[in-house]
Amino acid sequence: MNRPNIVFIMSDDHAAHAMSCYGSRINRTPNLDRIANEGMRYDNCFCTNSICAPSRAAILTGLYNHLNGVQTLGDRFDGRQQTVSKLLQQSGYQTAIIGKWHLGHGGDSDPTGFDYWNVLPGQGDYHNPTFVEMGANKVYDGYVTDIITDLSLDWIAGRDKERPFFLMCHHKAPHRPWIPDAKHAHLYEDIDIPEPPTFDDDYSNRAAAAEAAIMRIERDLKKRDLKIDPPEGLSERELKSWKYQRYIKDYLRCVASIDDNVGRLLDRLDEEGIADNTIVIYTSDQGFFLGDHGWFDKRFMYEESLRMPFIVRYPKEIEAGSVQDAMALNIDFAPTFLDYAGVSAVEPMQGVSLRPLMKGEKPDGWRTSMYYRYWMHLSEHGVYAHYGLRTHDYKLIYYYADALGATDAIDDPKPPEWELFDLRNDSAEMRNVYSDPAYTDTVARLTEELHRMQLEVQDTPYTGRQQGA
Ligand code: CA
Repeated sequence: MNRPNIVFIMSDDHAAHAMSCYGSRINRTPNLDRIANEGMRYDNCFCTNSICAPSRAAILTGLYNHLNGVQTLGDRFDGRQQTVSKLLQQSGYQTAIIGKWHLGHGGDSDPTGFDYWNVLPGQGDYHNPTFVEMGANKVYDGYVTDIITDLSLDWIAGRDKERPFFLMCHHKAPHRPWIPDAKHAHLYEDIDIPEPPTFDDDYSNRAAAAEAAIMRIERDLKKRDLKIDPPEGLSERELKSWKYQRYIKDYLRCVASIDDNVGRLLDRLDEEGIADNTIVIYTSDQGFFLGDHGWFDKRFMYEESLRMPFIVRYPKEIEAGSVQDAMALNIDFAPTFLDYAGVSAVEPMQGVSLRPLMKGEKPDGWRTSMYYRYWMHLSEHGVYAHYGLRTHDYKLIYYYADALGATDAIDDPKPPEWELFDLRNDSAEMRNVYSDPAYTDTVARLTEELHRMQLEVQDTPYTGRQQGA
């Protein structure tokens, strides 16, 4: 059996709308576009909880966060549970994870199922970062995105060529505070990056959660994000634009370095003669607001944050330049890898293999809705705890707005509220139609579907505070 190699490249907070293969209006990513042009672009790939550690745990386990134990940034991953890396390793794959881990360190939280691991502690540093290589600290000179790529290339070069390999190459960039390398430090210097259409959102016609969020470009970016003081004499609106330019340019400079480094990795696969038998994926742990709704950060179930970029190349099965609009989720990644590896026993994973979609087929009964939940009520960016349902045409969100004892959540309940967006004519999600009589039937149908799906994935509906709680 000639099983494929799997190179899983994941960046941190890279939104699909900052990739030219997804039609970016603000940057070009020629090397990422190579993957899409030579393979498939998924247009409806979503995370099940738009925050770093939980998405990573979902990818490793194929489980929703209430089952894998990482619901918030405050939860440590228990590596004793089943993971895709362990199963691939047991099936004979060589396995490695290099770069960002962000699931805790020490004890049962170190990476498991990897022959080799060399990861950043916590968020890690952009310049001259410390790594933890198989448990031992080691400082590397240089820029983190280059180093993660170098280490990945070294590991590929030193592999046993008789056995397939699984490499998780996890970039730290373009995570806050968006520090570019010297090579890209002056990129975009002489141009203005366009502001997004919803830049001046005033949060009217939405639940209270949107206005309450602490992620506004004009108010919530810090000196460490902007790096310099603004020029004097700017109006409030001019200052907002100035901050956006500072923010988005550094973000895109970090992305440009990722793009270069993905190019280096693709070139190496060509040089090694293994490009045809290697599945190459590029994704990010979630999306990000790039000034959309006047925001940076993620967490909300809104499109920019919910959507994961997901492009994949595998010439043996995937038609070049193809586009897939069926719904894929981060919990599907593990079952997909196992399918390609010929490992069939994936219980209790909740995701399903994307392999039929890769071949351009869409199995009967493929999901037409997905379930999402964010637990970190009011933590750091002030986003209310919520869960919801997205179908191809609608999004229903319930801000139950209660910590419910979650770690890294603030015990200060807010009045629960609903939102419904009609994505067919409001893809920017600017108008909550939950109370619009024209949508009464839709609300009823989607609410039922939400609760059906919540039970199906073994999560618990919010029923108010227990007496005495
Ligand atoms: Ca992230």
